[in-house]
Amino acid sequence: MTAPNLLDQLHTTFGFSAFRGVQERVVDRVLAAQSSLAVMPTGAGKSLTYQLPAVILPGTCVVISPLIALMHDQLRSAAANGIRAASLTSADSEDARELAIERFRGGELDLLYAAPERASQPHFRELLSAGQVSLFAIDEAHCVSEWGHDFRPDYRLLRPLMDAFPQVPRLALTATADAATRADVLAQLGIPDDGLIIAGFDRPNIRYVVHHRDTMVRQLTALMSEMPGPGIVYAQTRKRTEDLAEKLGAATGRTVLPYHAGLPPEVRAANQAAFVGSEDIVMVATVAFGMGIDKPDVRFVAHAGVPKSIESYYQETGRAGRDGDPATALLLWAADDFARARQRLSEVEEHRRAGERVRIDAMARLVETAGCRRALLLRHFGEDPPEKCGNCDNCLEAPGVVDATTLAQKLLSAVYRTGQSFGFGHIEKVLIGANDERINQRGHDQLSVFGIVTGEEASMLRPLARALQARGSLIPTEHGGLMLGGDAKAVLRGDAAVLIALAPKRERSRKVRRERTGGGVNPAGDPLFEALRALRRDLAAEAGLPPYVIFHDSTLREMAETRPASLAALGALGGVGARKLEAYGEAFLNVIGQH
Ligand code: ADP
Ligand code: MG
Repeated sequence: MTAPNLLDQLHTTFGFSAFRGVQERVVDRVLAAQSSLAVMPTGAGKSLTYQLPAVILPGTCVVISPLIALMHDQLRSAAANGIRAASLTSADSEDARELAIERFRGGELDLLYAAPERASQPHFRELLSAGQVSLFAIDEAHCVSEWGHDFRPDYRLLRPLMDAFPQVPRLALTATADAATRADVLAQLGIPDDGLIIAGFDRPNIRYVVHHRDTMVRQLTALMSEMPGPGIVYAQTRKRTEDLAEKLGAATGRTVLPYHAGLPPEVRAANQAAFVGSEDIVMVATVAFGMGIDKPDVRFVAHAGVPKSIESYYQETGRAGRDGDPATALLLWAADDFARARQRLSEVEEHRRAGERVRIDAMARLVETAGCRRALLLRHFGEDPPEKCGNCDNCLEAPGVVDATTLAQKLLSAVYRTGQSFGFGHIEKVLIGANDERINQRGHDQLSVFGIVTGEEASMLRPLARALQARGSLIPTEHGGLMLGGDAKAVLRGDAAVLIALAPKRERSRKVRRERTGGGVNPAGDPLFEALRALRRDLAAEAGLPPYVIFHDSTLREMAETRPASLAALGALGGVGARKLEAYGEAFLNVIGQH
């Protein structure tokens, strides 16, 4: 049971009426001065687990964070909730840093953010000795481990610093850490094994959808009209990023901006700032974009090509729907993506090749499965999820599963008999027995496979070839032909089956689109809701903040639904803490009163 005053404090500071998931367990440990490593997915609310104790405990919580942009985002949100926070980074002015130091010494700070490089400086240790430290919070703690994907040597400097303050508890936070990384983080940061708290990986409000990429621009504009809020589209290359941004902008009339490492820094910064502050901008970006973006109201993340691993896919799609409202993760794939990834294997150092192949195979299974996508993802992370989630494309509309083993044997054998050097178009013609000059010239009309595919089966050849390429049974040659690979021989011998998932018919897809899991959907065309949004926009512009820092959409929806008439009633809504009530309460009550 939570002590009532802890819930009071939660509501006063953040306006939340309950903890989410494991938040309470983590906060309890911090308040009991025990050190912990919390592994919680993106959007689970990690910040609150140190910000709330920071407000309650005497002294200052020192937060170590790897990116200045991330710190400044957090600082803004904390300050909007009335939390006394400051940062010590190279991006802060000398004056700002001096003021922060003075406030820390005087016990006037709840949170002090710093980059890990500072931790090794004798100055910093002296400074901390001159004030009172209540907690060390280490955000993105996987950076401390060489096993993690973003190793930052500076994180290794934290241990000696923290050891100098043995009575101060430590709280390490990360969204991604496999078992090896977790053990390493515990050891590197001196956190006891029983301090490990792991939340499930599931993000129930994200709908996973995987489609073959056929009319990419149309597929993406359909998504944009279904999810009108901010979104991210990941493209493979810089050039495609710019092309796609232009095409999507032209097709929808909306603001669509590019982002990649080749753009001038000032353009990148401007595009990112515009995106973070907007309620509807779509960013087309390479994977260089995202780390350090804490925007909670991203309504979709689309991949215009296959990401390199399930881990990357999960991290990138995880940027959608942090606010808990419905969001979509759309993956558009083509056989080519897999072909290229498998080709690149030969360039990979030998000791890494097997691992890379496992990663590609895992992506192929995600794309190929007729089962629940979420279950596949969660199993990948070692969980034991239910068979069906009810919020992925396959659960919403089961695809047809066809045993295509015999057809696959015909296709593979045609590839083999024509010499493993022709592309799909030629193979298809041979199989359906087309009267074609090139076929006759080569004598392919004399082969036993000539014309052995008829009627309905012919329409399955293309999806089948895609599936065989995704799983590596067919491999493209340098000259655009196809050759046998992977388990092709086993399929031909009859030792391996080929099941393929066939996409359901389109008309039905429309119907199931509306029902969504988790959170709520903004009412379209409700004048009060729109007026509240307009007010939020004005207040945000005035304060130079992104609108979501003022209030989340969910809070505006509650206002529009319940129409509170007093400050007390407004203060009871989710997301309205004491500070925001004081700062914005009257303005919002006014708008509600006018409707
Ligand atoms: P993480 O760092 O784990 O990705 P954040 O700390 O940025 O997540 O929080 C994600 C969002 O969840 C924030 O917008 C925050 O306001 C919201 N949130 C956190 N805790 C709660 C809670 N107990 N109830 C409602 N919303 C919450
Ligand atoms: Mg975070």
